[in-house]
Amino acid sequence: MKPKIYISRKIPSRFIEPYKDSWTIEMWPEEDEVVERDVLLKHAREADALFTTLTEKVDRELLDQAVNLKGVANLAVGYDNIDVEYAREKGIVVTNTPDVLTDTTADLTFALLMATARRIVEAEAFIRSGRWTTWTPFLMAGADIHHKTIGIVGMGRIGEAVARRARGFEMNVLYHNRSRKEEVENNLGVQYVSFDELIRTADFVVSMTPLTKETEHMFDDSVFKKMKSSAIFINTSRGGVVNEEDLYQALKNHDIQAAGLDVFRNEPIAENHPLLKLDNVTALPHIGSATYETRSKMIELCLKNIDHILKGEEPVTPVQ
Ligand code: NAP
Repeated sequence: MKPKIYISRKIPSRFIEPYKDSWTIEMWPEEDEVVERDVLLKHAREADALFTTLTEKVDRELLDQAVNLKGVANLAVGYDNIDVEYAREKGIVVTNTPDVLTDTTADLTFALLMATARRIVEAEAFIRSGRWTTWTPFLMAGADIHHKTIGIVGMGRIGEAVARRARGFEMNVLYHNRSRKEEVENNLGVQYVSFDELIRTADFVVSMTPLTKETEHMFDDSVFKKMKSSAIFINTSRGGVVNEEDLYQALKNHDIQAAGLDVFRNEPIAENHPLLKLDNVTALPHIGSATYETRSKMIELCLKNIDHILKGEEPVTPVQ
């Protein structure tokens, strides 16, 4: 009997074509709607492997019912939507999509940093709404990027790629991790500092850490108060690393200058969310890795991981 695969979001059929003869594949038919929980659970009960996205909770409830499940391939490098420890206990392999999205996400992070500093989105809305009456000395004036100090919290794959871009802008690069990376320091000319020093001295504070119990709400009121009042906060990691109410207050009270956010605690963020009412927020709908090339590579990698798992081989990118 062929193994059963459930794909929790519609993906183009060309990706599954190579596997059609070997697997019985079922797929949620909507591209822009999250799979209903009971549909996911029903398929999880029968599936040998699941192809999931970050909108699905792969939790104890699901894993307890998934009696045939051998693997979960998550279409993201982050896997905070999955109870990885419990899956491991059950002998279920979890995979993610590192590396293939690193440069793409770093590009977006830097684009968001630049857009926030130079008020690109606000300026574009300004011109379209017919408010541009004349040149003025400080019309849409923002903050310089070149030669400033960027502090990267989470100097992993994407953090390093952001640092390389920052060096191209002749920025001074600080970073903080739980562990020091001396080779990266030597190769990229970046400096390790404590979290406290980073948030106090950086002009741009960029969050690139995964969301874990340790990093949840690591950017809160006490942190925003220590930042420079000219600091710009960029988050392309996960919304949960920030206390959004505290961020809102910090931006509203001008404790910090601006924020560029690609991720939110609850996604999609509500249209009437207070953060979206602020001019000093540049907000994007979680598009860090969203290019045709990279999303295609991510999908192919998920399917390859499932193929390896079902053949009893080591997957290409297991979550360790
Ligand atoms: P990675 O290579 O695992 O890097 C994560 C870094 O965070 C590591 O250097 C790690 O270093 C550091 N870190 C972990 N816990 C920390 C803590 N408590 N305090 C300080 N640093 C900590 O992961 P990646 O591939 O760069 O991806 C990073 C994250 O970006 C993902 O987890 C995902 O959430 C997010 N992401 C978002 C998008 C998007 O669309 N916006 C796209 C891709 C990825 P230590 O272990 O030494 O602390």
